[in-house]
Amino acid sequence: MSIPLLDLQAQYLTIKEEINQAIQNVLDSSVYIMGPEMKTLEKEIAAFCGTKDAVAVANGTDALVLTLKAFGIGPGDEVITTPFTFFASAETIAQVGATPVFVDIDPLTLNMDLTKLEKKITPKTKAIIPVHIFGQMVDVEKIMEIAARHDLKVIEDAAQAIGAEYRGKKAGSIGHAATFSFFPTKNLGAYGDGGMIVTNDEYLAAQLRMLRFHGCKIKYYHDEIGYNSRLDELQAAILRVKLRYLDVWNEGRRDKAKVYDQLLADAAVQIPGRDPQALPIYHLYVLRTEERSVLMERLKAAGVANAIYYPVPLHLQKAFRPLGYKVGDFPVAEKACEQALAIPCYPELSLEQQREIAAIIKG
Ligand SMILES: *Cc1c(COP(=O)(O)O)cnc(C)c1O
Repeated sequence: MSIPLLDLQAQYLTIKEEINQAIQNVLDSSVYIMGPEMKTLEKEIAAFCGTKDAVAVANGTDALVLTLKAFGIGPGDEVITTPFTFFASAETIAQVGATPVFVDIDPLTLNMDLTKLEKKITPKTKAIIPVHIFGQMVDVEKIMEIAARHDLKVIEDAAQAIGAEYRGKKAGSIGHAATFSFFPTKNLGAYGDGGMIVTNDEYLAAQLRMLRFHGCKIKYYHDEIGYNSRLDELQAAILRVKLRYLDVWNEGRRDKAKVYDQLLADAAVQIPGRDPQALPIYHLYVLRTEERSVLMERLKAAGVANAIYYPVPLHLQKAFRPLGYKVGDFPVAEKACEQALAIPCYPELSLEQQREIAAIIKG
């Protein structure tokens, strides 16, 4: 038996005709950059999220950098995020010259612990970047209340959460802006890199469109120092096909997660913690166990792929050493890094495969 963490080949085979036709259409049009596929995808993603606008960029990391830039955040500013996320959530804060400030995570959901958030706000704080980790939303409405008291911007890092909901509201629809990644393994994945910002702020959207295209509103007239960060037509066309299936795929992942929850209820591992207000999309199904290395060996020996998300919390990354954090500063995130293990969870996984995986986990 060999079960991958995610089976992109199996997914492709279910939509092969439509994908191939979409690619062929772009080749026939010979329009490759900033064309109709990108513009239509922007409208479709905005409609999907329930926001006024969406701006496509080259990847999820650029989506964060451009949004921070568009909000005027830079040297001397502080931006608050979580230490238990992909590096880009904090890397981008440093990239614009601001300082990342971390808040420890909630032990149940592994999202930012909102009871610890307000204490981290200083006169230098300009924004908060909550991350919907593994596809489960954090309570952004509560963060918006805190942000309003201190006049801060809220940028949802929704890279892992497209289609997720909290109290019936979609990821990306509550913050001042939200960013998505279309990295191939994300729930809505391109066949290359891609990213998007959604927002209800029309001024912000115009700024982002300028920044992604060399600071231009009119070609060859540069108002600002910008970037070259665009989503190409091939990726946009592929994403438009896949977007039509996203709700079904997300529902499929939730079904698989429910099956695991039941199969593993009596196992010596902790299943993913759920916030009852959240409708997650299970970008990853992440177990926690004190016996991680033993379990990893057992799964590997049986041909079941598994992976650690994340091995090192951001405050202990070498690149952030200048920030001066030390072991023990964010104990909940540190413990999660010692215990977390992702197992295969995708719509094409069969019940039989899930039963086998559960049996291996139970030993
Ligand atoms: C994937 C990811 C990003 C970065 O997206 P890229 O498209 O790879 O640049 C940012 N934040 C989080 C939480 C992610 O999972």
